[in-house]
Amino acid sequence: MTSLFEQLESNRRKLLMERSSPGRVGTTLLPLDVPEAQLPNSDMLREDLEMPEVSESDLVRYFSQISQFNFSIDHNFYPLGSCTMKYNPKLNDEVASLPGLSQIHPLQPESTVQGAIKLIWELQEYLTEITGLSGASLAPMAGADGELAGMLMARAYHLERGDSHRKKVLIPDSAHGTNPASAAMSGFNVVSLPSDANGNTDLNALRSLVDDDLAGLMITLPSTLGLFDTNILDVTKIVRDAGGIVYGDGANLNAVVGRVRLGDLGFDVIHSNLHKTFSTPHGGGGPGSGPVIAGERLVDYLPLPVATRDSSGDAEKFSLGRSPKSIGRMGAFHGNFGALVRAYAYISSLGREGIPQVSEDSVINANYILSQLKGYYDLPYDRTCMHEVVFSARNLKRQHGVSALDVSKRLIDYGVHPPTMYFPLIVEEALMVEPTETESKETLDYFIEVMKAIAQEAAEDPDLLHDAPHNTPNTRVDEARAARRPDLRWRRES
Ligand SMILES: *Cc1c(COP(=O)(O)O)cnc(C)c1O
Repeated sequence: MTSLFEQLESNRRKLLMERSSPGRVGTTLLPLDVPEAQLPNSDMLREDLEMPEVSESDLVRYFSQISQFNFSIDHNFYPLGSCTMKYNPKLNDEVASLPGLSQIHPLQPESTVQGAIKLIWELQEYLTEITGLSGASLAPMAGADGELAGMLMARAYHLERGDSHRKKVLIPDSAHGTNPASAAMSGFNVVSLPSDANGNTDLNALRSLVDDDLAGLMITLPSTLGLFDTNILDVTKIVRDAGGIVYGDGANLNAVVGRVRLGDLGFDVIHSNLHKTFSTPHGGGGPGSGPVIAGERLVDYLPLPVATRDSSGDAEKFSLGRSPKSIGRMGAFHGNFGALVRAYAYISSLGREGIPQVSEDSVINANYILSQLKGYYDLPYDRTCMHEVVFSARNLKRQHGVSALDVSKRLIDYGVHPPTMYFPLIVEEALMVEPTETESKETLDYFIEVMKAIAQEAAEDPDLLHDAPHNTPNTRVDEARAARRPDLRWRRES
C-alpha cells in the first residue's frame, strides 16, 4: 500500500497525459461564426491523436505545480557567480509593458516613435558616461554578441590602418569561454595569458607575448576570479604602446559601476550585459542585451543602429543613424528593446546616488561571505574580493571525497541555488559565489550557516551529499544524455 504522502508525491510528478481522463473537457468552444471548410484528404489525416483530456482546474494545477519546479530569483537566493542574478525590480517590467513602448513596431516611421528612439539615445549616453568612453551601440543581443561586435570593430580598425598582420589576441587563462570564441570568430589567433600567484595578470608573461603581430587583449575587470587586477594600468599601457586594442569584458560591472570608469584605465572598447548588471530577468532563456561601448579609436566602427539627437531645430529630433565605417548590423532591427527599457528604468530610478551604492553593497556582501566562510572552504586567492568570491572545495574533496558538485547539489535541498561551479578553469573544484547588492544580511547569514552545515555534513556523512538533492522531482540527471538525446515527447508506455 502506498502511503498518502507517497500518493501526494507521485501526483505532483504526473505529466499532463497521465492526468487525462476520457471525456473530461476543460474548454468551451464558441459556436462556429465562419463558413465551414472541408478537411484535407484522408491520407493527410490521422485516425486518432492522443490528447490530454483534462478539466480547467487540472490544467491550472498542472502548470502551477511545474512552475514551482523551476528555481528563480523570485523564489530564493541565487548566488550564481559571473552571471549576476540580482533581484529585478517589478517596476522595470511595468515600464517595459507600457503600450507606448511595447506596442510599437520596428518598421514604424521614426517620426511616430520619437520617444522610443530618445530612450535608446539616453541609454547610450548613460552607458557612455558610466564607462568613460565615447559612444555606444545597443544592438548586440547578448554578452557574446557584444564581444563579437567589439572584436569585429578591432579588426576593422587594424584593417583600415593596413595592419592586416595584427592577428594575435591575448586572453587571460581565467577568461569566460565566450572570449576566445569571439576572438576566433573575428579572425584572430588566441594566445592564453597566464595569471600570477595573486591572480593578477603576469606582467612578465605579457611583455614576452607582445610583438608586432599583436591585435589586442581581451580582459575582464574585475577578473573572473572576483579580483581587481592591481596591474591593470601597466597592462593597458603595454598593450596600447604595442599598437594593440584593449577589449574589456564588462559583462558584470557590479563591482565598479559608478566608481571606476574602464575608459579612464585605458580600455578602448567594452561590452556590458544589461541582463546582469542592469537588471533584466535572465536565466531560463529570457532575452539578453550586450551593448558595446567604445572610445575614440573605435567609436566610428560601432554596429548599427546608433541613435542620434539633432537639437538644431525648434524641437529635438532623434533618429537611428548610420556611420560609413560601421561594421554593420548584428541582427535585425534595434536590439532587444524590452531589455533596453528595463535597463533604462533601472538606471534612472537609481540615479547618481543609487548606482555607486550598487557597487558598494555588492562588494561588501561578497567580502562578508568571504570572511565568514574562510576556513570552511579553501580560498585560492586570499585577498579582498570584488563583487564575487571564488572558493575551492578541494579541502572537502581531499579529506572526505566530496566535490564542488556535491556541495552544489546539497544547497538545493536547503532552498539555495548553487553557485557557479568549476569556473574559472584555473581554480580546482571552484565555487564562485556572487551575492549581489540586492540580498539582505539575513539571507547572507542563512547562506553562510548552510555552507557551514554542508561542510560538516561532508565530514560526517559524505553519502548524504553524494546523493543530494533529496527533495526535488529529479535528483541527478545525466547531463550529457539530456543534451545529446533529449526526451521531449510523451509516449504511452506499452
Ligand atoms: C555572462 C558572461 C559573458 C557572456 O554573456 P552572454 O549574455 O551569456 O552571452 C561573457 N563574459 C562574462 C565574464 C560573463 O559573465
